[in-house]
Amino acid sequence: MARYTGPVCRLCRRERTKLFLKGERCLSLKCPMAENSDRTLRAFAPGQHGSSRQRQGSEYLTQLREKQKARRIYGVLEQQFRNLYEEASRRPGMTGTNLLQFLELRLDNVVYRAGWGASRAQARQFVRHGHITVDGKRVTIPSFRVRPGMVVVLKNQTRENFNVVRNRDTLERTVPGWLETGDNGFAVTVRAVPQREQIDEQIHEQLIVELYSK
Ligand code: SF4
Repeated sequence: MARYTGPVCRLCRRERTKLFLKGERCLSLKCPMAENSDRTLRAFAPGQHGSSRQRQGSEYLTQLREKQKARRIYGVLEQQFRNLYEEASRRPGMTGTNLLQFLELRLDNVVYRAGWGASRAQARQFVRHGHITVDGKRVTIPSFRVRPGMVVVLKNQTRENFNVVRNRDTLERTVPGWLETGDNGFAVTVRAVPQREQIDEQIHEQLIVELYSK
């Protein structure tokens, strides 16, 4: 299953915002995008021509960057993202909101929201390695879309995993209202499809809709 495997901090530099792709490090001074960072921030886009290429303020560029930002936050490749958009546009309701709901309902995102994974990439790994069950069955597909009523559980053998213990001890992540925790925090039930106001990522989905509607 394809995924981006390159350096991730450069993605934040490209989008000029923190995308929180590395878990704990993103909250520390080691993050090159942090104020008072102990790393030198190169205040230009990555790549050979990053420092010379000026960002044009065009409408298209703004829309493109917003799409790339959303894609990178959720760790979705281009074609998969496009497919999600097409599906969102066929559904009743607002396309942008539908798109964000689809992204939030991915199994790897639910594992991340539950606080078991420090980043979506780590959550994805938990899923791929078979540590997660949905309604009692092992699911290893990160893009699996959960539905209201489904119960997502971290397997017993994984609960003592060093990373899981540390994440639960150190991350102060609040489980969103559309998920309900149980089993001492090792299970979450999907209560409902998340409403737009329950999705806290700083994404202007209307720009993505405008980009794909051209
Ligand atoms: Fe982005 Fe995290 Fe790297 Fe900071 S540490 S630049 S937030 S991925």
